[in-house]
Amino acid sequence: MKKLLFAALAAGFTLSAWAEYPEKPVTIVVPFAAGGPTDKVARDLGEALRKELKQPVIIENVGGAGGTLGAAKVAKAAPDGYTLLLYHIGMATSPALYRNLPYKTLDDFEYLGLINEVPMTLIGRSTLPANNFTELKAWIEANKGKVNLANAGLGAASHLCGLLFQQALKVDMTTVPYKGTAPAMTDLLGGQVDIMCDQTTNTTSQIESGKVKAFAVTTTKRLPAPPALAKLPTLDESGLKGFNVSIWHGLYAPKGTPKAVTDKLNTALRAALKDPEFLKREEALGAVVVTDGRLAPAEHKKFVSDEINKWGPAIKAAGQYAD
Ligand code: ASP
Repeated sequence: MKKLLFAALAAGFTLSAWAEYPEKPVTIVVPFAAGGPTDKVARDLGEALRKELKQPVIIENVGGAGGTLGAAKVAKAAPDGYTLLLYHIGMATSPALYRNLPYKTLDDFEYLGLINEVPMTLIGRSTLPANNFTELKAWIEANKGKVNLANAGLGAASHLCGLLFQQALKVDMTTVPYKGTAPAMTDLLGGQVDIMCDQTTNTTSQIESGKVKAFAVTTTKRLPAPPALAKLPTLDESGLKGFNVSIWHGLYAPKGTPKAVTDKLNTALRAALKDPEFLKREEALGAVVVTDGRLAPAEHKKFVSDEINKWGPAIKAAGQYAD
């Protein structure tokens, strides 16, 4: 009886202790460099969340090792709702890529809901002699062993896309890892690297201004808009049958964050994803905001688990690992 009374009091205390959450700024860790696609999603979402949570939302960039350094930081952070993680498909690809991932993807986080899905584009430096995918393929074949492919490190979306691209072409390229595709883009613009796959959220304006060449989109269907992307063929129709990569982003808290807090965050996320300003920005960059059941934490977690099973075999077949 005494025990029961204590448990009831403790539960009451826990609830009331978190009733005022958030009482100070909330930090979202972005596991890539500032100015890149994940960072852009986080900053736009952070602005929409700020309106819901009535507290500033701070973005902290912790780039490196394909996003796993930032994810590890959040896995070990205090489970109090003040440190969150916004990570993309790397959440599901890194378990197959890292022998010693410093966290357990499915056990060390509270899943707060999926945010959006973003297609990728295959782009190249503006000085490449190729002007379409057929010419690019011929150029790659003629330059075997010399082609540089930029990415944001093992486990990043650009890495996954580049890996599948090399597998499909049966050509090995020299991969050049960065802390995010923002610094990779700087080098692509400067002509230091040759090609890269990246989310439309990072590539659209560079394609529109002609600063990079765009060769294809990575989804199985062509994109409806904007015009610079809509005219691009898919890799699938360009001969790489079945090529299909679409990048999703999700929000996470450290395991053990109180349910009262994760419920508040999930409610705030659902409202933020309906924010007209946020929707407008996402649409302009080719991103599709999630509206389905994956907004529920349990379904978000199941989706990530399914993605781990989907990508694992393809990654293992490529034989790329890091410790
Ligand atoms: N687009 C990057 C990637 O390759 C990540 C980033 O810089 O946001 O996964």
